[in-house]
Amino acid sequence: MPTYIVLLGPPGAGKGTQAKVLAEKFDLPHVSSGDIFRENMKNDTELGKQAQAYISKGELVPDDVTIEMIRERFSRSDCKNGAILDGFPRTPVQADALEQMLRGFGGRVNLVPYITAPVQVLIERLAGRWTCRANGHIFHEQFNPPEKNGICDLDQSELYQRDDDKAETVLHRIEVYQAQTAPLISYYKDRGVLAEINGFAPIEEVSADLMFALKY
Ligand code: AMP
Repeated sequence: MPTYIVLLGPPGAGKGTQAKVLAEKFDLPHVSSGDIFRENMKNDTELGKQAQAYISKGELVPDDVTIEMIRERFSRSDCKNGAILDGFPRTPVQADALEQMLRGFGGRVNLVPYITAPVQVLIERLAGRWTCRANGHIFHEQFNPPEKNGICDLDQSELYQRDDDKAETVLHRIEVYQAQTAPLISYYKDRGVLAEINGFAPIEEVSADLMFALKY
């Protein structure tokens, strides 16, 4: 049976960081909807052009576009044993679509770690975050600085600040999360798969809590 883990939580909670840890641990692909959009924007594809306007304003890309993108991603062979989902689903419509898609593969959402942190912490994390151009590795100017300023420790590529991590957009992304994504907390709680994880702790501690929730 394939294993699907959905990381839920507001922007800045640490979903991307923890998704990478889980992907390695379980040898499953890390499927980040935000990364796929950014890759498409970088390559100036039709999908990238469609998504750009929404992303730069901190809005959600429409459900139909996002769902099709994930459907395409899941059709690739590396997802046959499951995936670590980061940033998808973000609305109940997307969650329903996911449920249906997984049913088609004989799978289901096995666990939803819901990572939380106080709003002030989210804002500080996002506004100080630097992302690596080549592979999306994440650093923070204060909490997790790279060894060399502006250079990724892992692949030496340039670090940049995402447009939507700029202070004026960050608050709006958190509001969008509260309005459109937070309903997924009860959606998954009702299905008995939600595991609340405190994201306001050092990275290794959050990972340890996640492993515990996953019974590892
Ligand atoms: P992230 O990297 O997960 O913070 O995503 C960056 C941006 O991509 C979000 O603020 C949205 O504009 C867009 N995005 C990512 N995932 C989704 C999704 N599941 N539904 C709609 N928009 C999304």
